[in-house]
Amino acid sequence: MRIAVLAGGIGGARFLRGVRAARPDDTVTAIVNTGDDVTLHGLRICPDLDSVMYTLGEAHDAERGWGRTDETWRIKDELAAYGAEPSWFGLGDLDIATHLVRTRMLDAGYSLTDVTAALCERWQPGVTLLPMTDDRCETHVVVELDGARRAIHFQEWWVRYRAALPAQAFVQVGLDDATATTAVLDAVTTADVVLVAPSNPVVSIGTILGLDDIRDALVTGPAPVVGVSPIIGDAPVRGMADSCLPAIGVEVSAEGVARHYGARRDGGLLDGWLIAEDDRADVPGVEVRAVPLLMTDDDATADMVRAALELAR
Ligand code: GDP
Ligand code: CA
Repeated sequence: MRIAVLAGGIGGARFLRGVRAARPDDTVTAIVNTGDDVTLHGLRICPDLDSVMYTLGEAHDAERGWGRTDETWRIKDELAAYGAEPSWFGLGDLDIATHLVRTRMLDAGYSLTDVTAALCERWQPGVTLLPMTDDRCETHVVVELDGARRAIHFQEWWVRYRAALPAQAFVQVGLDDATATTAVLDAVTTADVVLVAPSNPVVSIGTILGLDDIRDALVTGPAPVVGVSPIIGDAPVRGMADSCLPAIGVEVSAEGVARHYGARRDGGLLDGWLIAEDDRADVPGVEVRAVPLLMTDDDATADMVRAALELAR
């Protein structure tokens, strides 16, 4: 079977570990958000692609939640000693090697898709990782800062301000001119099933769906689409999705997110939607099933994936 998965960073990575565990013999392709990407200190950084690559490559720091295991921070300290800004972004020494290889390949003219494949040669994630696009597009957040309305890069809002500045809007700079890669469109149109990871509905999944050609392929494609709620009760399980949903007028609930994604029969995304056992969601046109939704380990996540695949059938 061919399974395509829409994914952000950490939530997407954990979910993909479950897909790999549940379906070891299937062809799994992850379509990963690149709206978080940023250039800092001359290095091109792709936080969500790296989270997925390190996590599936058994190289991630599970406790910190992002970056490499056994990381050290000597270069970051040296940059700070020079007063080289920005100092708020955690760039580990091991991680920097990844960004150096990526930046050099991009500068030499390789596409992000090719660069990602080259990096994955080392990490062997067991699934194909595809950036949603090879074009540059970066999420910015409109906030009130120093008495003025300003748009800052998503990473600055998320990492520096811990999403504590109320978001007035999210603007995906470059998204209108960006196109999905042929590899991504192939993955969607040849998939037997599409799964939507419980990733951030606004800045991870929302950004992927902001590419018209991906959205069209999903909405009109032959494969059923089943999503997993990132919200349990009235809060995201981890992370700060609750600081993103209100900015786009979506209720922080499993039902709110599903209604936002919409039913495929009405031009939306979903055929099926998994919610947590104590939750309820009434979404016309979408088949809803309640199962344990905590990705505590690969076995628990694999059960969740099996439930999603059953719903797709
Ligand atoms: P990021 O790009 O690193 O922020 O990660 P994602 O966008 O892929 O995923 C973040 C989302 O994952 C958050 O909104 C969480 O609600 C969700 N999440 C994290 N852990 C779990 C879990 O165990 N179960 C479910 N259902 N969602 C989770
Ligand atoms: Ca992200």
